[in-house]
Amino acid sequence: MLTGKTALVTGSTSGIGLAIARKLASKGAKVMLNGMGDAAEIEKLRAEMAAEFGVEVAFNSADLTKVEGIEALIADTTQKLGDLDILVNNAGIQHVSPIEDFPVDKWNMIIALNLSAAFHTTRLSFKGMKDRGWGRIINIASAHALVASPFKAAYVAAKHGIAGLTKTIALEGAEHGVTCNAICPGYVLTPLVEKQIPDTAKARGLTEEQVIKDVLLAAQPSKKFVETDDIAELVVFLSSDAAKAITGALQSIDGGWTAA
Ligand code: NAD
Repeated sequence: MLTGKTALVTGSTSGIGLAIARKLASKGAKVMLNGMGDAAEIEKLRAEMAAEFGVEVAFNSADLTKVEGIEALIADTTQKLGDLDILVNNAGIQHVSPIEDFPVDKWNMIIALNLSAAFHTTRLSFKGMKDRGWGRIINIASAHALVASPFKAAYVAAKHGIAGLTKTIALEGAEHGVTCNAICPGYVLTPLVEKQIPDTAKARGLTEEQVIKDVLLAAQPSKKFVETDDIAELVVFLSSDAAKAITGALQSIDGGWTAA
């Protein structure tokens, strides 16, 4: 279904990004992986994905808080896998703290990675997509692109920013066959969420079990975590030709969180 297409998934060595990369590869796309982690483990993952799905899979370890890293990543993708057709801006981090104590370096890093990186990857690949008359840009935002939670100032600000960026890109690409949409997941049990449980417990004076039940899943009427594969399936659909008229949308996948 996506045979011959080239996809870049940022932050795809773990969690949601890894599930998206695997799913796109399973549909025949060539995939550039990116992210942090143990080099040997990532190489194993890359080789296994290429063998399992019979597609080219490459890896670039660029730190996306650095503009030079992003420029090198886009150039490397084009050089190794061809012109970029599907860009999934997924890399993101979280920090949980009351505003008065929020570390300035964490604010700057979250804005750089969760918001500015998507501007730069798009800036560097948009003209090519428009010239070729086909492109898909999919931003992994969050329910926090639509509603806020306390103690997540930088994350909520960056994700609301991504919502605005998504709509702007959609308008600029609309006449050129290039769509841009945001996916807004509720809580997914990945390392990003696992890491914030102890900090949320501290900030709210709760136990870790109470955070899972009374803070995280309390927000989701389904009382279940969203699964990474469900998000990956949505990315595949938005990448398909059937989704050509869907652009500028903020698609929730949150067990009903933002309906409440
Ligand atoms: P994760 O921690 O499992 O994965 C994050 C990925 O980003 C990893 O591959 C990591 O190596 C990479 N990364 C981190 N810093 C980087 C940097 N400086 N440069 C390049 N890559 C970097 O997290 P996840 O839960 O899979 O989150 C993926 C995306 O989904 C994020 O944008 C997150 O905000 C969003 N999201 C997650 C949830 C959730 O509940 N897990 C909910 C809504 C949205």
